[in-house]
Amino acid sequence: MTVSAEAIFDVLRQVRDPEIPTLNIVDMGLVREIRHTPEVIQVDLIPTFSGCPGLELMRREIERRLKDTWPEASEIRVRFQLKEPWTPERLSQDGQEQLRQAGIAPPHLGDAPLPCPICGSLNTRLNEVYASAACLSLYRCLTCHNPFSAFKPW
Ligand SMILES: [Zn+2]
Repeated sequence: MTVSAEAIFDVLRQVRDPEIPTLNIVDMGLVREIRHTPEVIQVDLIPTFSGCPGLELMRREIERRLKDTWPEASEIRVRFQLKEPWTPERLSQDGQEQLRQAGIAPPHLGDAPLPCPICGSLNTRLNEVYASAACLSLYRCLTCHNPFSAFKPW
């Protein structure tokens, strides 16, 4: 297959954030820049949270998938770009919807109350600082009584 930005994006769409398996890294807004020649493929990513243990796993998976797709490429570089922080605005519409369906509140900044992704109530409470994933916190909605996860604040 010829190397093209579009084909690279198709490969990247198969990669999921290990912390949030419902969401692929393209919809998550993690892809900052793609450069390629027929021989060299370079992908720059923005990590959501630099402390996430899943980042290295994700990087290796991307490299493996790119190599499987273009075994003739002489160099594949996948780098995390730390200069520019990831912000929730980078999520695509699909990404926001997928997060909501997974019961994960979209990341929020500041002290604003966190809306429940299930019923929209602002009457929510932090339950557990350590949820199932290192980058998520567990909340409970006091209106619909459902638990939900949210990104840990910066
Ligand atoms: Zn609720």
